[in-house]
Amino acid sequence: MLYFSHPACLLHDPGEGLPGHPERPERLVAIEAALEERDWLGWERREAPRASEEELMLVHPREHVDAIRGLCESGGGAIDVDTYAGEASWEAALRSAGAACAMARALVAGEAKVGFSAGRPPGHHAEPSRAMGFCLFDNVAVAAALAIAELGVDRVFIFDWDVHHGNGTAAIFRERADVLFASIHQGGIFPGTGHRDDTGSGPGEGYTINLPVPASSEEGEWMELLESEVLPAANRFEPQLVLISAGFDAHREDPLAECRLETASFARMAAAVRAAADGWGAPVGAVLEGGYSLPALAESTVATMSALAAEDAPCPS
Ligand SMILES: [Zn+2]
Repeated sequence: MLYFSHPACLLHDPGEGLPGHPERPERLVAIEAALEERDWLGWERREAPRASEEELMLVHPREHVDAIRGLCESGGGAIDVDTYAGEASWEAALRSAGAACAMARALVAGEAKVGFSAGRPPGHHAEPSRAMGFCLFDNVAVAAALAIAELGVDRVFIFDWDVHHGNGTAAIFRERADVLFASIHQGGIFPGTGHRDDTGSGPGEGYTINLPVPASSEEGEWMELLESEVLPAANRFEPQLVLISAGFDAHREDPLAECRLETASFARMAAAVRAAADGWGAPVGAVLEGGYSLPALAESTVATMSALAAEDAPCPS
């Protein structure tokens, strides 16, 4: 089990320009304190390398990479009402994407069966040419694209359980049949995309699965969708690498949304994914996205990592 992060990820601080911003460095501090208390659950920790600009350009055009670098170099500023990049955000963004890439490399090389990439800023809202929703570059998408472009992987399954639709990842892969993207998210909230009838387009038709759920939906509804729709589709797809866009803002204590998952719900989803992935012979890597209640975020991350690592992932009820 491999855990990837980097101290530079603590230096990205949207609160510099957008006071009171929920995507704050303390998120990662809380996660790592909870892991430290538990001896890191026996996971090996690795320092994330920087993603190269070439890696970022697997999913973002050069103009976007240049624009973010330029903004950071000039001292930074708000990109929109939610999204901020400061001087330290460039290094943080490279390490955050680099953590996901290093995890993908290690998993594909067979160094571990499961990984966790704990980077900030998060990524799944970043569209090819647009930073948004706290995200500058789409970390999980860069890792998936890298696996296909450079690591000999033919099919990557991305399961996005963040409470918000992963519009960036969906946009990046919507016309591709080599990445199956499935998202369960609260409908009617930011970013407003992810309707059930959006199933991808062109050659990617059928390789996007959007499952919006209502506010106040609970674990039973999420597990039902995972077991009756997401995993059967992934089963047909036979992925060689599984990536989870692991946001923890569907937790009932999260201040940004209204779903009602419990800490143990994330363990159950992780266990179900791990059990399925074992059947495909595919490693599983989780990439941190949202989660804004510090205790819920930290405990849910621990629960997820524990479940991913369980020797025999229990069948969910
Ligand atoms: Zn989110």
